[in-house]
Amino acid sequence: MKFCSDCGHAVEHLIPPSDHLPRHVCPSCGTIHYRNPKVIAGCVPVWEDKVLMCRRNIEPRLGLWTFPAGFLEMSETSAQGAARETLEESQAEVDIGGLLAVINVPYVSQIYMIYRGTMRSPHHAITSESSETRLMREDEIPWDEIAFPTIWHSLKFFFEDRAKGVEGIHTMDLLFRTGRRPEVTTAAPE
Ligand code: ZN
Repeated sequence: MKFCSDCGHAVEHLIPPSDHLPRHVCPSCGTIHYRNPKVIAGCVPVWEDKVLMCRRNIEPRLGLWTFPAGFLEMSETSAQGAARETLEESQAEVDIGGLLAVINVPYVSQIYMIYRGTMRSPHHAITSESSETRLMREDEIPWDEIAFPTIWHSLKFFFEDRAKGVEGIHTMDLLFRTGRRPEVTTAAPE
């Protein structure tokens, strides 16, 4: 940030009094411009024994697979965001169910909130964000072509739970940037 979004004056980068981190501070109007982690909301859309996967038509990770997820908008709940992203990325309508996973990704200052979703019909279709959408059984999931480690782990949680007949809430901290399918992770205690 170079200029104050409130008044347009050039900002300074300094540690405000009684704070402990440098912030962008406007010397003209006094506004302190805080930056905080972003929330990504998504869901695993389920139809019968299959889940809906989307091939990314946008960068980053163009051409790789994900389930619908994206940045939460202002003034919406995480569940509303998950349903909206599902519609935007796959044209599928879902009823959002229980929370599946909360995954911290501090190296990019993101928090993923992933839900289980029940598709209202088997309808889905490509969008500007997805070059292909497909309902997949577990043995059809392209594990080596998943776009992000958060998505990979969430799918593992989903299928492990389903095999056990439970619906757990999983927490995980991805502490290291290790590629899209990390082997080194730290799972938070449950
Ligand atoms: Zn200002």
